[in-house]
Amino acid sequence: MADNNNLNPVSIIRKKRDGQPLDEEEIRFLIDRYTDETLPDYQMSAFLMAAYLNGLNEEESAVLTSAMLHSGTILDLSELPGRKVDKHSTGGVGDKLSLILAPIAASREVSVPMISGRGLGHTGGTLDKLESITGFTVDIPLKRFKEILGKHHLVMAGQTREVAPADRRLYALRDVTATVESIPLIASSIMSKKLAEGIDALVLDVKFGSGAFMENIDDALQLAETLVGIGEEFGKKTVAYLTSMEEPLGYAVGNWLEAREAVECLRGEGPEDVMEITHLLAGTMIWMGGKAGSVQKGVEESRRAVADGSAYDKWLDLVSEQGGDAGLLKDPDRYPEADHRFSFDAPQEGYINSLKAYQVGMASLELGAGRKSKESAVDPQAGILLKKKIGDFVKKGETIAVGFTNNNRAIEIARKHLADGCTVGKNKPDPLELITHKVNKSGISKYKT
Ligand code: URA
Repeated sequence: MADNNNLNPVSIIRKKRDGQPLDEEEIRFLIDRYTDETLPDYQMSAFLMAAYLNGLNEEESAVLTSAMLHSGTILDLSELPGRKVDKHSTGGVGDKLSLILAPIAASREVSVPMISGRGLGHTGGTLDKLESITGFTVDIPLKRFKEILGKHHLVMAGQTREVAPADRRLYALRDVTATVESIPLIASSIMSKKLAEGIDALVLDVKFGSGAFMENIDDALQLAETLVGIGEEFGKKTVAYLTSMEEPLGYAVGNWLEAREAVECLRGEGPEDVMEITHLLAGTMIWMGGKAGSVQKGVEESRRAVADGSAYDKWLDLVSEQGGDAGLLKDPDRYPEADHRFSFDAPQEGYINSLKAYQVGMASLELGAGRKSKESAVDPQAGILLKKKIGDFVKKGETIAVGFTNNNRAIEIARKHLADGCTVGKNKPDPLELITHKVNKSGISKYKT
């Protein structure tokens, strides 16, 4: 911890306010003092706003990440053999990819120590999806974490209080000071948590489009470059792909609905968009884990892991190990349906031109699948099952989506979100470009299938 009594928070804030770069000692001073609660929220808020407005350069971003990383425990997984590889998504709607690609990679003996977050706002969170599987626990002490990882090459858990505590406090402060949407602040927040996992390599799914943090592709590219730059600076092989979050991924949005769709994917019955990104990310993890000679070969392995059932078996084993009812995954119709279901129908005949991920996510949130504040509980049964996707033809009155909720007062608001997010027109739209770019330490390249 920095222990320099000559440093003055006001001078540091003024320096950043005036657009000057901060040195390592200054950044560490602020983060250390904030973590031990000797720097008040009002000074940290002022610093965050100055950083939001004037940005942080590459060096400052790396130092900020390091200061947040070292505010807590860094897992040491070196006693376990093999390379440890994880994946992180910047967040989206219907994004159940972790539940599919983690068992795929683990089935190829790539160790995946996955620490995930909860949903906030219109985006879903892996932990909420996992917990929708009856009995599944994500609250795993470190010793047990290593034991499960050693046995299955996979463990899926929540962030403990010891991991990057500075980020936990900073993120809560950013949320209420309008300083979330800053590329260096987002990048250091994400990377401090991922680096604390003790991984060797990381694949990032950086989303752009209506349901993503970064709507605009240029901002998403800049975020990807910053994330990759930080990862590489810390000696971790880091690759990012830019993927579209213009419409939800797959058909299911909502915790159990997505956990169920993830199983369909593992059984080889997954929607094309979900599987295309899944295989690319899982293939990259398999390559990074040293189990394939190239990403392409990793993708082939990933496809094989689904086709031969080994990824599905891995998932059932992991779910049982973490206390979940794997029988439910084999027979999902046993899961009780929410009390109310309603259908959202096409207002006219034509092609679906838009199905905005943001609005579908908001509809799902209103139905109970998401949280309005960090403390609120989610309803695992709530959500939306799309029956159509962008480019599909619908007749007037045909069902576009079915909603599920235990709160029938939410139905009209959810319907309004769906109506705001869906347009039907005479012309068939061009297909969405699902994966647009790859970013690694050599730079940005256009993604080609
Ligand atoms: N996710 C994070 O972990 N941090 C951010 O700042 C934004 C998204």
